[in-house]
Amino acid sequence: MKVGLISDVHANLAALEAVLPALARLDEVWVMGDTVGYGPEPSAVLLLLRERGVRMVAGNHDRAVATGQGLGEFNGAAAAAARLHHEWLDADERAFLAGLPATDERSDFTLCHGSLVDPMWEYVFEPKEAANSFQRAVTNNWCNGHTHVPAHFLWDGNRVAAERVQPRVPHALGERAMVNPGSVGQPRDGIPDASYAILDLDARTVTFHRVKYDVAATQRRMRKLRLPEMLVERLAAGR
Ligand code: ZN
Repeated sequence: MKVGLISDVHANLAALEAVLPALARLDEVWVMGDTVGYGPEPSAVLLLLRERGVRMVAGNHDRAVATGQGLGEFNGAAAAAARLHHEWLDADERAFLAGLPATDERSDFTLCHGSLVDPMWEYVFEPKEAANSFQRAVTNNWCNGHTHVPAHFLWDGNRVAAERVQPRVPHALGERAMVNPGSVGQPRDGIPDASYAILDLDARTVTFHRVKYDVAATQRRMRKLRLPEMLVERLAAGR
């Protein structure tokens, strides 16, 4: 079985459309949250992913857009975008987002947005930050997003080690792994290209990928919709 991993699409339709062809023939697609927030097309992105029949968990932006929950934790630009998305989405779309689970289990993986300790809010940048989640996990492996930086950590029962993420090279999952596919719609590792990963559950590997998309087109749509300029500019920088 092969599984596409995506996260933090953030209403960036052009970026999602650049990624989806690579996932078309895979058995499943897992989405680690923050499907909305920040970008120009929350409704079209939701529709496309629902039509694809993905497994999806909730991110902090999904909750904030749908229910207002956690909005007070956001910076001004993020909150402004979340309020706009709340207006743009209809009642069915908001109910769908509000009903997303905080975690989901699939095969021997648990899906979450931040971490298994705090699914909505904890950022896992460093291996040591992942240790508590490995201890808490009821599955061997887990997937997250939230940092907008691709990551692959391995747990040997005592400590967590970071694997160097190299695109297009299969990485062995080992005994227990955390995989963060990075962000489709707003990468923050200095590379503006959309990020995703593919799990091969038979070969027990994960392969990371980047794909170029029309960043300028998304930026034009954002300016037209009067989304905060800071959010527009960061797409080109990948920060
Ligand atoms: Zn995010």
